[in-house]
Amino acid sequence: MIRRAAVLAVFLVLTAAVTGGVWWRALTGALSRLEERGQADLALAGDRLLGQLHRFRKTAVLMADHPDVLALALDPDGSSEAVDALLQRTADMTRSDELMLTDATGRVLAASGAGKGTDRSATPYFKRAMQGALGFLHEIDLVSGRRFFVYAAPVFSPEGPVAGALVARIDTEAVEVTWRGEPMIVFFTDRDGVAFVSNRDELILVQLSLLPEGASDKLLRREERNLGRHVVWDIDGGPYLPAHALHLTRDLPVIGMTVEALVDVDPAERQALLQALVATLICIGLGAVLYALMERRRALSVRLAAEAEANTRLEGRVAERTRELTEANDQLHRAQAELVQAGKLSALGQMSAGISHELNQPLMAIQSYAENAGLFLEREEPARAAENLGRISDLARRMGRIIKNLRAFARQESEGMSDVDLVAVIAAALELTETRLRTASVRVDWTPPARPVLVRGGEVRLQQVLVNLLANAADAMEGGGTVTIRLAQTGGRVRLSLADTGPGIAEPERIFDPFYSTKEVGASEGMGLGLSISYGIVQSFGGTIAGRNRDGGGAEFTVELSAAERGAKAA
Ligand code: ADP
Repeated sequence: MIRRAAVLAVFLVLTAAVTGGVWWRALTGALSRLEERGQADLALAGDRLLGQLHRFRKTAVLMADHPDVLALALDPDGSSEAVDALLQRTADMTRSDELMLTDATGRVLAASGAGKGTDRSATPYFKRAMQGALGFLHEIDLVSGRRFFVYAAPVFSPEGPVAGALVARIDTEAVEVTWRGEPMIVFFTDRDGVAFVSNRDELILVQLSLLPEGASDKLLRREERNLGRHVVWDIDGGPYLPAHALHLTRDLPVIGMTVEALVDVDPAERQALLQALVATLICIGLGAVLYALMERRRALSVRLAAEAEANTRLEGRVAERTRELTEANDQLHRAQAELVQAGKLSALGQMSAGISHELNQPLMAIQSYAENAGLFLEREEPARAAENLGRISDLARRMGRIIKNLRAFARQESEGMSDVDLVAVIAAALELTETRLRTASVRVDWTPPARPVLVRGGEVRLQQVLVNLLANAADAMEGGGTVTIRLAQTGGRVRLSLADTGPGIAEPERIFDPFYSTKEVGASEGMGLGLSISYGIVQSFGGTIAGRNRDGGGAEFTVELSAAERGAKAA
């Protein structure tokens, strides 16, 4: 939020700076162009006034040399009629307002209009002419209020001294009328700062100098300020004068005046404002584009952050789930190992009656053989005694083997796999279940091959599987039958089949389910775990176990295992 406000503030400052810069450059540029053009026009206006005045000057000087004029000046009391007519004619021709001839005392001897007999001796231009120079002045006729430029040329007598003066008065309006209505306001100010001639009536005889000490009671209300190197006047001068104008000046020392101009700066200001407006719009447009880009980037980064967070969450959950699964798997493995052991102990329990019988029988036989051996020794029949002792030794070996098998069976095997001789496993399993099979009157059809058949697995666990299958067969054929054991090898697989002649499997699809048993709790103590444990064991070796009913009656179980490399080659 704060970042956005800061960015907005920076943008506004930049926009203001750019706008201001553009406005200033445009304004000063436009003012410079205005000033350049204005100065040229100003020079032209000055030259034009000087040119017009020059004509009148020449008239005055030429007329001063006229012989009739000289004659009258030398003889002031003579008839002035001819000179009057001459002056009148000339004035009409040159459009000078008035031409007059004075004598050396300033009295008007002849004139083109009224004014004859008046005295000009007090005027500065007359005094100047009397000194032999050309007098020049601008004046306001106090009676008519008209403004005049006045030239006074000395009339020299042949002997040298000045005999009179020829005065030419030119009404400024005659000059002004030619440049009324020009767009640029031009005015000529005298030394008092009064606009004596102008192409705008509003300015005529207006005091323009900032110091109100001029001859005029009319004052232009204005303020002066600088715009760069330009001088601009803010004028409060009515509808015909611009409110803001560029002020230009140029000295005209020949007539002792300054020509000044006022150029309206309104168009320049409007142009500058327009350019500034365009710059602002461009800035705003650029800002909008940048803002949109920024917003898009922000939205993108927010989305990416959200996605990254979701990913991390997902990864965390996957890791957690993996850990849980691994734990469950470990628990399963432990449970399976425990079950295997429990299954074995249960099998041992089931076999205990047979085993004790198996051990008791030779014990009792040993006892009677020992007693008989004693008797034979007493009767001094050592050969028969030795025979009995030999039987005792056989029986003891047999008992030792049984115990060894039991111990091996009860041992908890570690999880690993090795190459196991399946023929030896079958032999051990048969030995363990021998009593049980005999009790059930089950005949075993099994011819062990001459060579070992090596498979991949665990010896004790494989033995457990076979004990289970043989015990189940005995259970199924209580009262008599045959169990046929076969071994076959195809490629890398060894197939062991175990077929019985019992009633067959009641529900073949359920036999590997844990706790599925058709046996009554009691005599055969079925827990329904034997086959499911066997299934787990075979599968852990990468093998398969299946049970089905044979076509000719009875059940057949097959166990398929991977052959050991060595065994496969040997076979
Ligand atoms: P239990 O022997 O404790 O009942 P098992 O998992 O070893 O448990 O056997 C499950 C069931 O499979 C037995 O109850 C029996 O119904 C059936 N069964 C197993 N072997 C045979 C067989 N050889 N003939 C017929 N049924 C069998």
